[in-house]
Amino acid sequence: MITVQRVAKAAGKHLTKAALTLRKALGARATRSCPACGSAVVGFFRYGDNAEWGCPACGASPRERLMNWLVQQGTLDVPTDGAILHMAPNERSLVRRFSSAADYTPADLDPSRYVVADMRRVDLMDFSERDRYDLFYASHVMEHVPDDMAVLRNIYHALKPGGEAWLIVPLWDRPTEDGSFDIPPRERERRFGQWDHVRQYGPDFADRIRAAGFDLEEIDAAAIDTDTRHFHGLDDRLFRARKPGGEPAR
Ligand SMILES: [Zn+2]
Repeated sequence: MITVQRVAKAAGKHLTKAALTLRKALGARATRSCPACGSAVVGFFRYGDNAEWGCPACGASPRERLMNWLVQQGTLDVPTDGAILHMAPNERSLVRRFSSAADYTPADLDPSRYVVADMRRVDLMDFSERDRYDLFYASHVMEHVPDDMAVLRNIYHALKPGGEAWLIVPLWDRPTEDGSFDIPPRERERRFGQWDHVRQYGPDFADRIRAAGFDLEEIDAAAIDTDTRHFHGLDDRLFRARKPGGEPAR
């Protein structure tokens, strides 16, 4: 669905991206660095309300940069000997990292939307694998599913003991507001920020993750020191959920 809001966002993105390219061509110093592609960059381009959203070299978002930075820091450990289920694999840098795993499954409800090889169709509402994955990654997926508690429980069962789910969702400061696909698309866009979202999460997303049985660590970019955060343009919050049991977490 094309809306005025989306067109405005896309136009703004294009303009600021062009401005960054021009500044670089005119000799502006590249004083920032993208952890997703390793490029030195002049800055990051605007998308919507976020003035420092995209990497001009690879397109990575603040959350994609955050994930790469956390892996590079050793805060997150990609289980390359194990099995990884990567939902909605839009982020190229993470496809590169995760696909080095012994058993890598990129998946989506609609695999035709992706250029990634060997996509599998997975409906998280109807997902009954057991004790199979070491890592489940889903960025901006949970706000699309009709029943997120059912999906969290499905993810829990699909993970091995000690396995982790790395979840990122759009957040606001207020409590989570749930909707359904019975609400018209226009109203969903107004209430939840996008026509195919059925809820808007708040910080209480954490309570839902714990209610599904997980141990939870929240990694907020806001807690990273200001210089590092600015240098890499890091933003967003990772909900790192761990299924109890197995080897102790590092
Ligand atoms: Zn980049």
